[in-house]
Amino acid sequence: MRERREYRREIEGLVRAVRGVPVRTGPRYTIPYGFDATGLRGECGGVAFPRGLDDLASLLSEASRRGVPVFMRGAGSGFSGGSVPRGGGLVISTEHMHRVLSFDPGRGEVEVEAGIVNRELQDYLEARGFFYPPDPASLNFSTIGGNVAENAGGPRAFKYGVTRRYVRSLAWVAADGSAFERSAPEGPAALLVGAEGTLGAIYSARLRVLPAPETFRTFLLEAGGPGGALGLAAETIEAGLSPGVLEYLDAKTMRCVGEYCCFGGVGTRADYLFVEFDGGRDAVSAEAGAFEALARRSAAAVRPARDEAEREYLWKLRRSVSPSLARRGVTKVNEDVSLPLGRLAEAARAVHELAGELDLDCYLFGHAGDGNMHVNIMTDRRRTEEMERVRRFVERLFALVVSLGGALSGEHGIGLTKSPYLGMIFSEAELALARGIKRAMDPGMILNPGKYFNAAEGAGAARSG
Ligand SMILES: Cc1cc2nc3c(=O)[nH]c(=O)nc-3n(C[C@H](O)[C@H](O)[C@H](O)COP(=O)(O)OP(=O)(O)OC[C@H]3O[C@@H](n4cnc5c(N)ncnc54)[C@H](O)[C@@H]3O)c2cc1C
Repeated sequence: MRERREYRREIEGLVRAVRGVPVRTGPRYTIPYGFDATGLRGECGGVAFPRGLDDLASLLSEASRRGVPVFMRGAGSGFSGGSVPRGGGLVISTEHMHRVLSFDPGRGEVEVEAGIVNRELQDYLEARGFFYPPDPASLNFSTIGGNVAENAGGPRAFKYGVTRRYVRSLAWVAADGSAFERSAPEGPAALLVGAEGTLGAIYSARLRVLPAPETFRTFLLEAGGPGGALGLAAETIEAGLSPGVLEYLDAKTMRCVGEYCCFGGVGTRADYLFVEFDGGRDAVSAEAGAFEALARRSAAAVRPARDEAEREYLWKLRRSVSPSLARRGVTKVNEDVSLPLGRLAEAARAVHELAGELDLDCYLFGHAGDGNMHVNIMTDRRRTEEMERVRRFVERLFALVVSLGGALSGEHGIGLTKSPYLGMIFSEAELALARGIKRAMDPGMILNPGKYFNAAEGAGAARSG
């Protein structure tokens, strides 16, 4: 990829050609839009704010004609550098495209523009007696476009599945500016889900939605006995129970949350599960009863939410994990590995040992139901020697996960941070096939270049900020 100054002239030409579509090139825009949640800093030559499918199509058509790299961006909450621009290319922000386009309760379908925030969609649906199951822990700020592009999961993924299951069709724009208004997931649109903005730009998504559950039963459990919380999570599933939410927080993480939320009574060594059953009243009551009995047999301390206010409070504890960890270090290195459920406890022990060996401050939590474990190292990227230890930790973590039959990313994607490790999980033949798809859909290599499957073909321009 060329250097930033070489795209300046092309971006100026693009701005003139797409008259009417706001494109900002001043540092007030190029600096903040050069980051995502990883803190990686990219090189941004301008930020465009399309207001609809036609704007998006003309931006891509002009970018393709001029060979300007394009980086789609929702809220920039990604944890793998997916939206971080490189080499002075153009960021396309979806923030001015956030309307609900249609809602059909009979078909259980809603169509929204890509820039709508997940929470805005949930509020819209809740008022109409429905909900959209994929609700990442970032639902208060991440966008549906970003969720589709990352195939986002979240606390409810075990019971309800991840984003892909809910996409009925996409309106999107190909690299050369061609627009497709109703692409079903049986066709090329299937490739866009989880492609992290490397194969096309999503304008809107038609999503399957479900009637809101009749009732909920929510629990916080402290489990320090044999097998601990992760053992209990596995037993819950083996017993045939199907909680909507089955979240794991290790003892250190829970202590942070307790301090942050002024929540007393957090055990010093126990791990925690946050569990919720949802559905019809009778089924929920039967499942919750069976679960409480199971938990008591495992000597876990069970704290049920007795009313809606207590349920809200328990959710507040779960949603406070990220802000509470922020007080433990200025840089969070967050890996979201995924493992077979039966190997989670073993992996958790090995990860803590590894962090101890490398003298790193490590916190584990995650969506235990679908084997997704977030491994967080709280550090400071200005401490170069410590960052070298973090690098060694990540390499050994990935090797451990692969040896236990797991995957490098449960939901945060590959982006910039995991691209160098793709060879650990895919064969060269698989990578070559994936690069072939990329070349077919984006022959000019303008869409999110240097990330994911075409990473090996691009140059590494992003650096730690
Ligand atoms: C506190 C916190 C908690 C989180 N919890 C979860 C969780 O529980 N589950 C989970 O899955 N993730 C989680 N994440 C990660 C992140 O929120 C998700 O990856 C989310 O889907 C990204 O949405 P976004 O709008 O911020 O996208 P961005 O970060 O802006 O972009 C992400 C990727 O999508 C591409 N993209 C964005 N919009 C489009 C579009 N319209 N067309 C094509 N490509 C596009 C970008 O190019 C980039 O590659 C969490 C992040 C934080 C900070």
